[in-house]
Amino acid sequence: MTARHLGVDVGGTNCKLAVVESAGDRPGPPGDRPRLLATTTVPTGSGDPGEVVERVAAEAAGLLAAHGPVAAAGVGVPGLFDEATGRTLLLPNLPAAWAGYRFRDPLAGRLGVPVALINDARAFTLAESRLGAAAGCSTVVCLTLGTGVGGGVVVDGRLRFGPHGRAGEVGHQVIDPDGPPCGCGNRGCVEAFAAGPAMCRLAGRDSPEAVFAAAAAGDPRAEAAVQAVVGRLAVGIANLVTVLWPERVVVGGGVAAAGERLFAPLRRAVAASAPLVDPAAYEIVPAALGPAAGAIGAALWAGERAAAGPVTGGCGPRR
Ligand SMILES: [Zn+2]
Repeated sequence: MTARHLGVDVGGTNCKLAVVESAGDRPGPPGDRPRLLATTTVPTGSGDPGEVVERVAAEAAGLLAAHGPVAAAGVGVPGLFDEATGRTLLLPNLPAAWAGYRFRDPLAGRLGVPVALINDARAFTLAESRLGAAAGCSTVVCLTLGTGVGGGVVVDGRLRFGPHGRAGEVGHQVIDPDGPPCGCGNRGCVEAFAAGPAMCRLAGRDSPEAVFAAAAAGDPRAEAAVQAVVGRLAVGIANLVTVLWPERVVVGGGVAAAGERLFAPLRRAVAASAPLVDPAAYEIVPAALGPAAGAIGAALWAGERAAAGPVTGGCGPRR
């Protein structure tokens, strides 16, 4: 039986909304895959989160008049949240008023349906694995390369969510304990080497696009920066491939927009760093859904949250 869900992706500049129709909570054959029905965008604004609730609810009302009703809504947020209370906690790209704001319940009240929160990179992962670049695949690793490195993993058809949605931080694998400091407080994470700002710093350029263009034109410093990023990123992806044997690794975000200039050397480097895995067993591919992925994934999560099980694991924390 099909059901429709609303997804909202809260960003620093805009909130994107999507309505998705899906028939189940597992990867299905092409005829059963979720369908994107509509998307729209509303400015996030610089005010308090209560105003964002009102703006999103007003925009959703128009969207749902044409494409509803929906059974539930999912909201992708750019950071950490407490699933038990529905409060947003650490959202580095949003004003300080979001820290501790009980975002879920007022929005659920205005929309009139249950709301589930999800980290935006996990929402991207779910969207790409259900109807994007890894549609139909059972085990998938996703990375978004932007100002940070986010992502997530789908294992045997299920998004690995973890308590408060914090599992799947693929960008915070330590690949060099003596490496540069990372925003998470650790050193030498994939993010500290492979995010856009790190690559720009190495190359002395303003944007990842400028770095790749300069490398293509033969600039030695830019070429070295791209090689360094590819090498570090490949170690992180090779670790994930070796542990999980995914069918696909999906790479999206601003840095991934470089296309084959990134992907061709990356595929070679991952294969070299993952000798236990048959290179024919997996593909490394660009993301397919573009900027709507977060809202699509949040909508899918609204439908899948109930099936994902309890917030904490069955054996509980060790004492
Ligand atoms: Zn880190």
